[in-house]
Amino acid sequence: MDSSDDDIEEYLFKIVILGDSAVGKSNLLSRYARDEFNLHSKATIGVEFQTQVLEINGKEVKAQIWDTAGQERFRAVTSAYYRGAFGALLVYDISRRTTFESVTRWLDELNTHCDTTVAKMLVGNKCDLDNIRDVSIEEGAKLAEAEGLFFMETSALDSTNVNKAFEIVIREIYSNVSKKVL
Ligand code: GDP
Repeated sequence: MDSSDDDIEEYLFKIVILGDSAVGKSNLLSRYARDEFNLHSKATIGVEFQTQVLEINGKEVKAQIWDTAGQERFRAVTSAYYRGAFGALLVYDISRRTTFESVTRWLDELNTHCDTTVAKMLVGNKCDLDNIRDVSIEEGAKLAEAEGLFFMETSALDSTNVNKAFEIVIREIYSNVSKKVL
């Protein structure tokens, strides 16, 4: 087999998850990385990051996905958290409007710490709670369009769109980076 440099090329990208407390950030990550869900909010400060590997165009693409691990409860997401991010998931809870209203603040914070080329996905989580919905799909889509974000509603509880949301971001980063390299 031919083993040119191309074959051994590897990618490692940092992705951050942002959003108000209890929107489901940790559960989105544990659902994606370990296919696990926790009914109760974490009692302790959670894990810092998980690494997921995806194969794209025959290349091994590693995504190092960071969770705020509760930092946002103290309004203290540090600049180290944002440093080096290539992608971000901005999460709100479709059953709590205040968390949707906070998205622009998270986006502003992301933009002050990171390059505008960061691949961004707006995530309306807890779509299994449709019966107590407080934010419509149209509102989510409208905000995403206005801010140039991908958009998806997810449920970490029943797994709806969780893999899709992460993978769209990872593929977008890969595509941005490989365009620069070529
Ligand atoms: P974080 O503070 O943003 O990391 O949020 P957590 O992942 O700790 O979740 C907060 C609470 O929301 C927990 O009680 C979870 O069980 C619950 N939760 C998370 N995702 C979902 C979801 O998709 N649907 C429902 N119904 N509950 C969820």
